[in-house]
Amino acid sequence: MQAIDTLLHSRWVIPVEPEGVALEDYAVAVHQGRILEVLPSRAANEKYQAHASFTGKNHALIPGLINTHTHAAMSLLRGIADDLPLMDWLAHHIWPAEQRWVSGDMVQDGTRLAVAEMIRGGTTCFNDMYFYAADTARAAAAIGMRCRVGLIVVDFPHAFARDADEYLAKGLALHDELRHHPLVRTAFAPHAPYTVSDGPLEKVRTLAEELDIPIHMHVHETAEEVRQGLERYGERPLQRLHRLGLVSLRLQAVHATQLTDTELHLLAQSASHVVHCPESNLKLAAGFCPVHRLFTAGVNVALGTDGAASNNDLDMFGEMRTAALLAKAVAADASALPAAAVLRMATLNGARALAWDDEIGSLAPGKSADIAAVDLGEIETQPVYHPISQIVYAAGRDKVTDVWIAGNQVLKDRKLTTLNEDQVLAKARGWRDRIAGGAHER
Ligand SMILES: [Zn+2]
Repeated sequence: MQAIDTLLHSRWVIPVEPEGVALEDYAVAVHQGRILEVLPSRAANEKYQAHASFTGKNHALIPGLINTHTHAAMSLLRGIADDLPLMDWLAHHIWPAEQRWVSGDMVQDGTRLAVAEMIRGGTTCFNDMYFYAADTARAAAAIGMRCRVGLIVVDFPHAFARDADEYLAKGLALHDELRHHPLVRTAFAPHAPYTVSDGPLEKVRTLAEELDIPIHMHVHETAEEVRQGLERYGERPLQRLHRLGLVSLRLQAVHATQLTDTELHLLAQSASHVVHCPESNLKLAAGFCPVHRLFTAGVNVALGTDGAASNNDLDMFGEMRTAALLAKAVAADASALPAAAVLRMATLNGARALAWDDEIGSLAPGKSADIAAVDLGEIETQPVYHPISQIVYAAGRDKVTDVWIAGNQVLKDRKLTTLNEDQVLAKARGWRDRIAGGAHER
């Protein structure tokens, strides 16, 4: 018998790679934070002596979900302004609130609220873009959550930084600080083509190549963005990014609801990644990302929720179902984006977009033990013919019972183990009172 840290037994193990496979009565052997082996439960019991174990009689084990586009701290602005188009929502509600309220403390409290919600919903990694990324990194790391924090760049000043150069300098300092961190990595995060001018974008391109990190950016979110880009620069935003050298395998193009055939092929040829955020796009009436056409062209498409101010939750189960349903409607093809493909979007495709697929995104020996256990034994998800279909079309995030990140159990029987839920709630209410009270003063 080989002594190991943890043995997870489950009715089904869904490794994601190979796609569409659900292994029945299997186990995942975990040691020193990594997956040692995925093997039949009976063989696992004969081979391994585990220090801790989990048995999910009606559970499916899946790779932890990867939320590939968030603004975690915006969870404190959840529901502050709804039912508005993007530019109105941003210019008259979100940006003024951010100018007034966003600080390092606010970002830490907002990140804790967001991470608590994400872990309870089976998410084990998020790709963030916000001010005070050092505070996001600090809060997430203390909880044991994995993330890639965005080194934000915008032209306009904020208490966080005066101009693009200061945003970049702060970003570089944070990248340096996190260089060897086991759970937290960085990406450049120039906000969008309409908020960052050519000079800073060229610097981002050069630095991203030098440091070998991704570029996380909102691109072609709405038709209005494309129209304004044409008016201001004489070219469509994606064309402009291409001219500046940003369209490459480093690019995570978030939203991409407005794509010509030429642009679609540009994304495919450059091996750029698209991050699809269907619920945010629906809520802001931004447009429809042509997911089926992107897949057919060979583009890697990942999945994100966007911030809680435009969704209004960080629920990757809801996002998977919406993505699957919407892709069929947009393609007028019920076979577009089947369940296994959408689960892959929420896991391995996200890992690829984050350039982290050597560590996460599937259940394979050598990868980090980032795993979620989903209970399919209750009324809402019975009977089970196809576990993957059940996860995408019938289960909700409330069916997630246990979660591990790098082998560390962060959710146990629906209780967070590395966060005090009462404190998280008290902070959320406190910020709500300050922000809502402040709004009345004006
Ligand atoms: Zn966003």
